[in-house]
Amino acid sequence: MPLSKRSKRTQVSKSNSDPSAVSAQRSETMRAVKAFDTGPERVVRSIVHRMGFRFRLSNSTLPGKPDIVMRRHRTVIFVHGCFWHGHACRRGARTPKNNRDYWLAKIGRNKARDVKVCDSLRNLGWRVLVVWECELQTKDVLISRLRRDLEDLA
Ligand SMILES: [Zn+2]
Repeated sequence: MPLSKRSKRTQVSKSNSDPSAVSAQRSETMRAVKAFDTGPERVVRSIVHRMGFRFRLSNSTLPGKPDIVMRRHRTVIFVHGCFWHGHACRRGARTPKNNRDYWLAKIGRNKARDVKVCDSLRNLGWRVLVVWECELQTKDVLISRLRRDLEDLA
């Protein structure tokens, strides 16, 4: 029942003194962290980290909240899902049969937004790199690409 679920959650977040509530709250936080730092972003972070670069995670003060912010090198990296950001690859070309117009419009807006975000960051003096989700299928190629892109920064 949705109603009882909701009231339970409200209770949990309000009663911090109850140990079971605290652990419930913690596991909820863990879930949120996991959802945030998961999949492609995490893989790219670990690649960049192993290359010896230090960076911050998503920084909300920058346009578009880049996934990786290398402040020292004034470089940001976005990890884009091919579908959501309309990549020109097989995965990006796939559109759902249902509500096709809706998705095409939505993806079109995302793409327009990406261009704008990229321009704003460049105007602020940032270098912008984009890693596409599909690039993770050939990690060796991605690693040498990133090495090339980041070489002069090391
Ligand atoms: Zn792609």
